Amino acid sequence: MECMKCGARMNKKVAAVEGVHDDKTFTVRTTAMVCPNCGYKTVDAQNLDEYYRAVADAYRASEGRLTSKELVALRLKMKKSQREFADYLGVGEASVKRWELGKVQERAMDELIRLKTQAEYSARNHFQVLSQSGEADQYSGWRPLDLKRVTHLVAYFLGEIAKLKKKPEHQPLVLNKLLWYADCRHVRLYGESLTGLRYARIDHGPVPDDYVQLYRYLDAQKVLRYADAETLIARMPFDPTVFSKDEIGSIAHTWDRFKDRLNEIEELSHAEKAYKETEHARQISFAWVLEKQRRPSARRQRHTIPA
Ligand SMILES: [Zn+2]
Repeated sequence: MECMKCGARMNKKVAAVEGVHDDKTFTVRTTAMVCPNCGYKTVDAQNLDEYYRAVADAYRASEGRLTSKELVALRLKMKKSQREFADYLGVGEASVKRWELGKVQERAMDELIRLKTQAEYSARNHFQVLSQSGEADQYSGWRPLDLKRVTHLVAYFLGEIAKLKKKPEHQPLVLNKLLWYADCRHVRLYGESLTGLRYARIDHGPVPDDYVQLYRYLDAQKVLRYADAETLIARMPFDPTVFSKDEIGSIAHTWDRFKDRLNEIEELSHAEKAYKETEHARQISFAWVLEKQRRPSARRQRHTIPA
């Protein structure tokens, strides 16, 4: 192939070439014909597919969407053919083929693919749905799930645990109980939980429902990480302005009550009426917490949360 600018013989090589997708210009590395004399570059018909795919992937990356390579990798991880993957997503096989060749999937479709292929993404969605639905009842401590509050309560307890000379064993279970006790205390005093988390009864005591998914979500959000199966490390600082003064009181009181007996907290939780009265694997009603120790005067002091 001769250069259309100067007539010199062009070389085939991987080069940086500009391309446009949806009014955005990207420079991609792709197989091109390059003139050694004047530097003119062009992509010949044989390499157009590769070029278009590279531009589409640069666009996808800039928009935070899955690239064609990532799409193929996700499908292969699930050991599905293009046909099976299309059925699984509820789209036509032609769509899957086109995406893998470089056609950019719509934003909504990108979302669907992530939800159906990535467990972390799906877990995050689960908790977002719960928080967005705004449902509040006796199982959520009369507060809709508030992920920001969950995040900072977790950061607080993990931060305090990290300061201890002697760290407790089974930290995920200890954290489960601390969250529950803190929410219980606030319900008891103010008729509303701190986080809106729902808790369930399992053999190990009351735990956020479902705490495995919850910690997976918090891990993905860089709130915590597992140093090993039993050790949790906070990855963000606690922000006390997320809570009101009364709420900080409930949190600090819970920590003071249990900090010297964290290895007993599981056993202590088994003695709580709310736990004992709930059937295995069922959600625990905060109504039991109120029943145990009614304080009508305190309940009337229900405050509003500062924005
Ligand atoms: Zn040339």
